[in-house]
Amino acid sequence: MPDSTDNRSSYEAEYALEQPVRCPQCREEVSTVHVVRLLRSKVNFTSTLPRKGHVILCSACKAVLAAALGVM
Ligand SMILES: [Zn+2]
Repeated sequence: MPDSTDNRSSYEAEYALEQPVRCPQCREEVSTVHVVRLLRSKVNFTSTLPRKGHVILCSACKAVLAAALGVM
């Protein structure tokens, strides 16, 4: 496991899973996931979409496992 405490790399936060889960992409069992914030950079004038969101990445292969808007 790479030491990631101080190292601001491509993700903003790491979350521990209560139980290890198998990544559907790389088939690794992971016990942490990485979270990257989404910041809206372009928007249609009439859009009611939220300004922020986040994506959850596999800590092993960086595949996107889930994404959500407006819940930070
Ligand atoms: Zn993976």
